[in-house]
Amino acid sequence: MSDVTTKWVYNFGAEANEGRAGMKNLLGGKGANLAEMASIGLPVPPGFTITTEVCTAFNSAGRHYPADLQAQVTDALARVEDAVGLTFGDPAKPLLVSVRSGARVSMPGMMDTVLNLGLNDETVRGLVSASGDARFAWDSYRRFIQMFGSVVLGVDHHRFEEIIEQAKIDAGVVEDTALTAAQWQEVVAEYLLLVETETGKPFPQSPEDQLWRAIGAVFGSWMNQRAITYRRLHDIPADWGTAVNVQAMVFGNRGADCATGVCFTRDPSTGEDVFYGEFLVNAQGEDVVAGIRTPQPLSQARAKPGEVSMEQALPAAYAELLTVREKLEQHYKDMQDIEFTVQSNKLYMLQTRNGKRTATAALRIAVEMAESGLITRDEALMRVNPAALDQLLHPMLNPDAPRTLLSRGLPASPGAASGIVVFSADEAEMRAQKGEAVILVRVETSPEDIHGMHAARGILTTRGGMTSHAAVVARGMGRPCVSGAGGVAVDYGTQTLSAGGRMVRAGEAITIDGATGEVFIGYVQMIEPKVSGHFGTMMGWADAVRTLKVRSNAETPLDAETAKKFGAEGIGLCRTEHMFFDPERIGAVRQMIMAGDEDGRRKAVAKLLPFQRGDFISLFRIMAGLPVTIRLLDPPLHEFLPHGDQELAEIAAALGVDFATIQRRAADLSEANPMLGHRGCRLGITYPEIYEMQAQAIFEAALAVAAETGAAPVPEIMIPLVGAPRELEITRALVDKAAAAVFADKGQSIAYQVGTMIELPRAALLADRIAKSADFFSFGTNDLTQTVYGLSRDDAGKFLPHYVDNGIYEKDPFVSLDRDGVGLLVQMAAEKGRQTKPGLKLGICGEHGGDPSSIAFCQEAGLDYVSCSPYRVPVARLAAAQAAIGNRVDRTS
Ligand code: PEP
Ligand code: MG
Repeated sequence: MSDVTTKWVYNFGAEANEGRAGMKNLLGGKGANLAEMASIGLPVPPGFTITTEVCTAFNSAGRHYPADLQAQVTDALARVEDAVGLTFGDPAKPLLVSVRSGARVSMPGMMDTVLNLGLNDETVRGLVSASGDARFAWDSYRRFIQMFGSVVLGVDHHRFEEIIEQAKIDAGVVEDTALTAAQWQEVVAEYLLLVETETGKPFPQSPEDQLWRAIGAVFGSWMNQRAITYRRLHDIPADWGTAVNVQAMVFGNRGADCATGVCFTRDPSTGEDVFYGEFLVNAQGEDVVAGIRTPQPLSQARAKPGEVSMEQALPAAYAELLTVREKLEQHYKDMQDIEFTVQSNKLYMLQTRNGKRTATAALRIAVEMAESGLITRDEALMRVNPAALDQLLHPMLNPDAPRTLLSRGLPASPGAASGIVVFSADEAEMRAQKGEAVILVRVETSPEDIHGMHAARGILTTRGGMTSHAAVVARGMGRPCVSGAGGVAVDYGTQTLSAGGRMVRAGEAITIDGATGEVFIGYVQMIEPKVSGHFGTMMGWADAVRTLKVRSNAETPLDAETAKKFGAEGIGLCRTEHMFFDPERIGAVRQMIMAGDEDGRRKAVAKLLPFQRGDFISLFRIMAGLPVTIRLLDPPLHEFLPHGDQELAEIAAALGVDFATIQRRAADLSEANPMLGHRGCRLGITYPEIYEMQAQAIFEAALAVAAETGAAPVPEIMIPLVGAPRELEITRALVDKAAAAVFADKGQSIAYQVGTMIELPRAALLADRIAKSADFFSFGTNDLTQTVYGLSRDDAGKFLPHYVDNGIYEKDPFVSLDRDGVGLLVQMAAEKGRQTKPGLKLGICGEHGGDPSSIAFCQEAGLDYVSCSPYRVPVARLAAAQAAIGNRVDRTS
């Protein structure tokens, strides 16, 4: 046995602070902050924290405590007894304590608090005489039995509430506070009986026994289902464990000079610099949140007629609280969420932590704190979670609005939307044209659904992951989307969707929340987003520090305009295949693919040229001199093949061949694995007339816009799915030839670049050779992830959640760039590419380009820009700033 004793227990309060705010890992957030508050002179009732290490030891040793824990707890308890002059279990002057859990981060799934621990049939009488208030003492005892009985012994808390309700009826009163000491004493007797009947044992009377059982319940609750689920959803490792805080009780329920309250040092929903919170006179902790009585405002300025503010009711304690507010903000340099109690006009602090806030509030608080000099601009930039900015760019559900949950899927594209259910893109379009709000519900979407997706307010799919077609397109369009809602069954035949025994028919309303993945029945009230001045200020600061440029993936004028409005510095990916799904064009595309020979293809391609030229003219005009990366056609062929006899017949007629021929050709073209098939530059190499036409359209458009506006467009032509250096040589030559032809024809020229996507492992491995014919590389990390993992983008959603839940993959690699594998290839390709061409421009245009942690990786890998969907541009600007600051810190430390 080792003779070095591990310290399992840390004291706080009464000038014996062994902890600090920086010790959250060991003491949990609550314990660390209690010690910190006490050490800066704030009034904290004394207590002690049992460390998170005990939790881990306890749960891994079959619920056994470390041998020397008991002695350390006894010592710590004795110190508390000394500090407050009371003794645990003393029938005359009993010390009562609270027992609370406290993990590193706040964990709603954990055990609720137990207050007034130490009361029993004897000590309650001591409390009666010590406090001189029998009503208070019996009420405290019944609260203790109720909390301990439900959270530690597992008795349904409704059973306790029923007893109180009956007592109030019998006494002819409405409010709990109207019950007398004798009536509470009767409630206690019934509670004790209830516990004995429910658990088969009398309510534990020994305070030591009570304490150890409460401590055990906290540690045990770390492993309960609620907590496990919460950890899974928030990426919290199980081995973090929770701490337990045992603290001397102070009472907010001992009369009119007592109170309890919760507050934020600033308004957590707007960020305004006002003291925000509520309190209740003569109440204990849970009364404020339980909704039994209406809490009152803190400051008189915020009191409505009929309300009594704390400023008015308890002026001295309020004044002290204002000083605490000031002191806490100065000390923590952030908005705090505080819990306090006033006992006999004296203020006690029970908790402080950085307050949760909306994105609007986060921006305002950070900007104002930086402007007042409390924090630096860099610190302000680091304060705002870039992903939270999404909230500002889409409508969201009113958090207070009632709702009925139907099911859950993946939070594929943020924002909330309500509308009537439709099951086809055509119907979505038709109904939207009539002014109806619709939600398009599909098992999965395909490019042919784009018009319906565009017309819909939101999209729900039952299959597909975070980079499924529905998810990518919805994010690009800024449409809310829930994808992969596997618990929802869609029946196109009966036009219904059902989940958990409930059914919704076409034409009935649902609401989706693309930020949480939730699906609700009916309409839920929304709040419109506001982009405040602080948002702009923060973006300006971000732009000043970031070194990564931010571009956007955009192909429609609307996308391009949105991107520009949000600050995009160019287009990083224009997926030209998305330009061909328009009903006017798809026929020509199909003819091009289905034509049996070059001549047939050229005829079809010629029909597309004017459309493409028009598309590019619009984009160049909008981007006005900013770079525009246009990717030549990259269709998984199957997305363009005709479906059904009618479409086949139409193509047959257009090509002037018989039906059987076209049927055979369709069968020939169908692929077992289209994602690895005849797509990308393979198509451009086998059918060069397609890329020739696109290049011609780009150069003609660029010259036209240059002549029209005087600002020369900057076309960057990008070749997809290159895996062999020769592929880029061939396609580049084809583009250069088209450029020369257009320039000769028009008698004018324009600067342009030709580059490639790096989206296959082989391209990354051979990047030095590929770079010889490239002016730039853009990492297509969607396909690169797919091919590095051998994981289909469209099918992985079926089992990826299992992998992530079980820690086999740390994160969904389609959402957050896998540094270990995919990242290694990106780094290698970047280095190899720049070995060949030191100035080679590098960007990323996969979905990861809008993901903050992936953006940090891009910064480290030395990329020049990231490109993301239009609605993520502000997110990327801030994430890029944070990456730049992070890099600076790394270098200087
Ligand atoms: C990619 O593969 O990362 C990419 C951007 O191309 P797409 O998503 O169109 O395949
Ligand atoms: Mg790709």
